[in-house]
Amino acid sequence: MPLALYNTLTRTKEEFRPLHPPQAGVYLCGPTVYNEAHLGNARGPVVFDILTRYLRHLGHKVRYVRNITDVGHLQGDGDQGDDPMVLAARAQHLEPMQVAQYYINRYRLNLAALGCIPPDIEPQASGHITEQIAMVQEILANGFAYEVNGSVYFDVPKYNVQHRYGKLSNRSIEDQLAGTRTGLEGQSEKRSPLDFALWKHAAPEHLMRWPSPWGDGFPGWHLECSAMSRKYLGNEFDIHGGGLDLMFPHHECEIAQCRASHAATDEARVWMHNNMITVNGAKMSKSLGNFITLNDLFAGTTTTLSQAYSPMVVRFFLLQAHYRSPVDVSDDALVAARKGYRKLMNGLKLLASPAFQPTQTEQETSNEKQETQQETSNKKQETDLEVLTADLFTGLDDDLNTARTIASLFNLLRKFNILATSPVALAEAPPAALAAAVAAYRLIVTNILGLSEEPRANAEQLLELTLSFYAEAKAAKAYDKVDLIRAALKGQGIVIKDTKAGVEWAYSEE
Ligand SMILES: [Zn+2]
Repeated sequence: MPLALYNTLTRTKEEFRPLHPPQAGVYLCGPTVYNEAHLGNARGPVVFDILTRYLRHLGHKVRYVRNITDVGHLQGDGDQGDDPMVLAARAQHLEPMQVAQYYINRYRLNLAALGCIPPDIEPQASGHITEQIAMVQEILANGFAYEVNGSVYFDVPKYNVQHRYGKLSNRSIEDQLAGTRTGLEGQSEKRSPLDFALWKHAAPEHLMRWPSPWGDGFPGWHLECSAMSRKYLGNEFDIHGGGLDLMFPHHECEIAQCRASHAATDEARVWMHNNMITVNGAKMSKSLGNFITLNDLFAGTTTTLSQAYSPMVVRFFLLQAHYRSPVDVSDDALVAARKGYRKLMNGLKLLASPAFQPTQTEQETSNEKQETQQETSNKKQETDLEVLTADLFTGLDDDLNTARTIASLFNLLRKFNILATSPVALAEAPPAALAAAVAAYRLIVTNILGLSEEPRANAEQLLELTLSFYAEAKAAKAYDKVDLIRAALKGQGIVIKDTKAGVEWAYSEE
């Protein structure tokens, strides 16, 4: 089955066909860098990390662009109010770029911990003022914008005559008008309350301003993504993504800017939107005090949750749901995610064990062996393995349904565990089908879902030592000691397993 993605623009799942194969252009709206990244900021990057990893696996040459907003994103997402970058800089007596850099650095560390491969290009809005001014000039020249007192506004009603403003969010202009409040201070400059700023005039005391044909000012928030995606991906590219909260007005305005400038496209062919994250059933917000930053989540310093959760557990937690479904964060959900993550890691561990390594003779005779097996009773086993392996990709191909993929991984892992308990069954398993299943499990977990084992400082040696104490105590029939060591390790998330080969350990799945 080819990869199909849900396109917000057409409201259907469409087979992914890049405009200029093998190239695939992908753009994701990045963060506004004036405070710590929170869990909601991580969902888009994690989803798009899986998307780009999977596209690359399928053979596409991906150029992945994720921007940094360091100017123009005013409070309330509108044209009024302060720029939070400037507010933060003023409050801390810093250069706005110092504030931006500080949070950019922290954001990158957060995403690296979450296993996200950095984008190929990470453009900053403040570094692309020239491109943004050029785009405003084009829109003005085409008659879809007007200048007032050094600010330039996009003329939505005029644009709407020829094009449909609201096509992405599926809102009529009448509904949008009914939803706007009139008489807001400062809005008198606009001909219609629906119009939005392409360029804003800046007072002399404003910290972030650049010269332009309309005097000193700064670009509107929506403009940067249109100008920067065009610069790095062209007038039309394959996939544009962001959170559901960006669909309107941000992405709607991006499409309007592209259509109204010389690009005359919907900017991207496919528009993808990830759903939101709630906390214990409530919307995450600063006023409710349930805002979870990634650093607090990893360190266990948030009051909303009872303990720390590692970045890989958080990544698994985000992937447990389809990206278009909402996700609710709670201790219960994160503890369950930790269980699931450890189960997958135990799967990798199992596959690295000697039992799953084909011996030299097995490899040499595999073809011959396979033939005889096909003639006998093992055909069913081969089919089982092939079906389970193929199913790993079904979820990914179906609009990147990682929830389904994880369920398929658990199904295959169940099969591996059954084989592991029976050396006879393992020896008789069709080698080619088994090798393909093992490779696919590793590929999906590690390379596509990007889940890896987290480092344990000095843990290896300490664990070996403890296990040797355990073995000694057991040999001496000192069962109270045996129980004590078992309980202590369990507290560290490790279970001891007594096997014929000796003492072994696994991650606790509780
Ligand atoms: Zn954007």
